[in-house]
Amino acid sequence: MKTIAELGDLRGRRVLVRSDLNVPLDGTTITDDGRIRASAPTIMALSEAGARVIVCAHLGRPKGTPEERYSLAPVARRLSEVLGREVRFAEDTVGASAKAAVEAAGDGDVVLLENLRFNPGETSKDDTERGAFADQLASLADVFVSDGFGVVHRKQASVYDVARLLPSAVGGLVETEVGVLERLTESPERPYAVVLGGAKVSDKLGVIDNLLRTADRLLIGGGMVFTFLKAQDYEVGTSLLEADQVETVKGYLEQAHERGVEIVLPVDIVAATAFSADADPQVVPAGVIPADRMGLDIGPESAFLFAEKLKHCKTVFWNGPMGAFEMEPYAAGTAAVAEALVELTEKGALTVVGGGDSAAAVRQLGFSDDQFGHISTGGGASLEYLEGKQLPGLTVLDEQEG
Ligand code: ADP
Ligand code: MG
Repeated sequence: MKTIAELGDLRGRRVLVRSDLNVPLDGTTITDDGRIRASAPTIMALSEAGARVIVCAHLGRPKGTPEERYSLAPVARRLSEVLGREVRFAEDTVGASAKAAVEAAGDGDVVLLENLRFNPGETSKDDTERGAFADQLASLADVFVSDGFGVVHRKQASVYDVARLLPSAVGGLVETEVGVLERLTESPERPYAVVLGGAKVSDKLGVIDNLLRTADRLLIGGGMVFTFLKAQDYEVGTSLLEADQVETVKGYLEQAHERGVEIVLPVDIVAATAFSADADPQVVPAGVIPADRMGLDIGPESAFLFAEKLKHCKTVFWNGPMGAFEMEPYAAGTAAVAEALVELTEKGALTVVGGGDSAAAVRQLGFSDDQFGHISTGGGASLEYLEGKQLPGLTVLDEQEG
């Protein structure tokens, strides 16, 4: 993959940068600006190199037409604060406002285009429709920099198609993210443990197959744990359960046994009568969750067990909170894992946190980014990489080179 340095002198050139600025919003207030801060160094470097920087990004999931609540306007303001320089905001993506903003940009100026997903071509499954939108995007610029790690696994106009139209390179963020993933897959220092949790159970089960080949130990918590408990014929009450995945999970448990990979499951669970903070949370043994209760966190004994199992690891990848951490009674399991990783980082281990909610969780719990080896901006992209899948946004750059 070509890097920015290999694009040559960028002074006066129009550089289209695909960033991932998909931050959580409460109205127009940004509740976690992690992705903006992670994107800033590449934008800054291009600006300092004298490029006319045209940043494009998406926010949320609008359905191909403009919607006020998905406007990137608040992001433009925050990006400007983080960069310490003006960010001109275009009120459309490839229309009159975008063209005028690009036209008016001088060397070193930064322009942010409106939400890419206000245009149906961005995420279209139709190659022609996507290509047509990519043509319009490409016409705004001379070169393309792919820096939106969180979308690099998507075959979308601003990720994949535009890279086939312009001389392209990866940005510093994608370079860093991929470098960390290479360390995890190629020769992780052992013991190598993976902690999996969160709510997107079936999305995340696929990666286990591959992890059983690379990791030494797999710790399972969060919403996905109940499918594992069910696979052992335990009662899970009203907990999150993917009944159609129970057989698959049984297969994983057998494979893990054959390969000598240790699977660590919680021994106790914080179970409540509803998905709510004041639903009488009680600690129950993991094997006997009452029929009218749902598990919303791993219990205190499990938190201790997980910390013990992580203690001597040299490499840890963590994706997905251990519980519904947004609610105080169910945050302790996630806090315990975060604390264990912080201690490991201090001892020189490589600790990687992936996933939007996992990153938000560690910040909400009061940890700072530099207490971990790396906080990834792309949970889905990291998982697909670890699963051994080809990421369209990366392969297209390799193709261009070859
Ligand atoms: P990430 O964004 O880090 O990949 P996910 O999106 O998969 O993580 O999952 C995060 C969500 O999982 C959080 O909002 C959290 O409340 C939820 N969650 C964790 N444990 C449970 C559980 N036991 N039951 C229901 N939801 C859970
Ligand atoms: Mg999430």
